[in-house]
Amino acid sequence: MRIGVIGVQGAVSEHIQAVENAMKKLGVDGDVFWLKKPEQLESIDGLIIPGGESTTISRLMVKNGLFDRVRELGESGLPIMGTCAGLILLAKEVDGAVPGQRFLELLDVRVSRNAYGRQVDSFEAPLRLAFDDEPFPGVFIRAPRIVKIFGDARPIAWHGDEAVAVEQGSVIGLAFHPELTEDTMVHEYFLRKAL
Ligand code: GLN
Repeated sequence: MRIGVIGVQGAVSEHIQAVENAMKKLGVDGDVFWLKKPEQLESIDGLIIPGGESTTISRLMVKNGLFDRVRELGESGLPIMGTCAGLILLAKEVDGAVPGQRFLELLDVRVSRNAYGRQVDSFEAPLRLAFDDEPFPGVFIRAPRIVKIFGDARPIAWHGDEAVAVEQGSVIGLAFHPELTEDTMVHEYFLRKAL
């Protein structure tokens, strides 16, 4: 199995480590690497878009020739997981976008950038997952808020009553950062889609 992590800006090495740990847990043989060039997209079974700054990641993906091909591959069923800024990039509707910012529009959600407010703009909280009984440690860093889920997207993680992750076919978007915890459950769930 080959997994690429978009490596133009943001928390890339943490995802690489988390994918390696999750592969070990699942007992799958695989490779995970920094993905910077469009040619590298042709040989992967799954793609991660990390957290960072969604405006910068979007701009650099366009500049490096990744943007349009990622969208095509996502539309044709490539498993993609976006965390935090990655969720913003995958969303169809974004509050607080900067003029000209482009989105992949692969998830039927509306997100609001930096919507958790200043005093709590970073926090940790236990989350409920749709695919596991144990609480998952959620790390939120200037996270986007999921304000609407429509069409074919469905929630797969909750903080209290509020959805903080969605799935639509083979695409997953999370407001939090599973790569910053030791718990590999979310990465394992994603990798099973790429098997
Ligand atoms: N606030 C950032 C953005 O809007 C996302 C933060 C993150 O990825 N940790 O792009």
